[in-house]
Amino acid sequence: MSVQSMTNSSTADIKTTLAQIHALESAGCDIIRVAVPDEQAAAAIRQIKAEISIPLVADIHFQYKLALASLDSGADKLRINPGNIGSNDKVEAVARAAAEHGVPIRIGVNAGSIDRAKYGIPSAEALVESGLDEVRVMEKLGFEDIVLSLKAFDVPMMIRAYELASQRCDYPLHLGVTEAGLAWEGTIRSSVGIGALLAHGIGDTLRVSLTANPLEEVKVGREILNSVGLWRRPFTLISCPTCGRCAIDIAEIAGEVRLRLETNPPKAPITVAVMGCIVNGPGEASLADVGIAGGKGSGAIFARGKMLRSVGEDELVDELMVEVEKFGTDT
Ligand code: SF4
Repeated sequence: MSVQSMTNSSTADIKTTLAQIHALESAGCDIIRVAVPDEQAAAAIRQIKAEISIPLVADIHFQYKLALASLDSGADKLRINPGNIGSNDKVEAVARAAAEHGVPIRIGVNAGSIDRAKYGIPSAEALVESGLDEVRVMEKLGFEDIVLSLKAFDVPMMIRAYELASQRCDYPLHLGVTEAGLAWEGTIRSSVGIGALLAHGIGDTLRVSLTANPLEEVKVGREILNSVGLWRRPFTLISCPTCGRCAIDIAEIAGEVRLRLETNPPKAPITVAVMGCIVNGPGEASLADVGIAGGKGSGAIFARGKMLRSVGEDELVDELMVEVEKFGTDT
């Protein structure tokens, strides 16, 4: 399962685009997509490709020659919508060139751009029909190295469309809730839509589309994978919501623990529980790799399912980090 993002710099501005891709690579981006609106952008792909280590997807609309130029520049994948590339001979030229370069094509259908005269108002069924019609165009040309995406802002529609597509074809599916919004609401919409599909085994790549720095997209995409168990981040932090039973400052402790884990990543993937009291605390803390369960101005330290010692609130974080440090070196 791969996390994709898209640069928002002008692709022809190679320096800025490279800086953005390098930052995204460091954040865990597996595949990068760049917009190719003109010949300068298509030409820039060659230099960009030479300085990055993740696959690059060229995103092309309307002009088939830009797809051909992007392939010549070394793009690893094309994202097109055959419906807006033009006549059959243009689509055929793109398919033939992609086959010669051994490059897959993602057919990307969005609810906002389906042909309403042909498919009616956007619906899951209309998205799938539109996408599969585009697939059939490529298949008739003998091209089957296809990835399909059926994105919509409407989460139930998007989920249903991908479910239907997974029943009707075997092509890899690229998941996304399109135009999901600003970071807060877009994160939630994307997590619900993409997460529901992944939890049912549907999807091969994903992009979280946010009106935000693309780094946020990668961060959210990685956390979605972490949440459905398809990837494990260096640390997973469990913390309780607190309630009237809590007698220590869990929010501050959990924040400090996260900061320390981010600053000094553990040697092995680890689950850390920060729990407020003895009701659920010992249970959660002992299920995690290491944890604390708060008491009155104090707390118990757990590791590998066993309670180790009780310490004062002021020492809880330091003592917890001692166990984090040991974890992965004491097996
Ligand atoms: S662990 Fe304790 S403090 Fe935290 S929510 Fe549960 S009962 Fe409340």
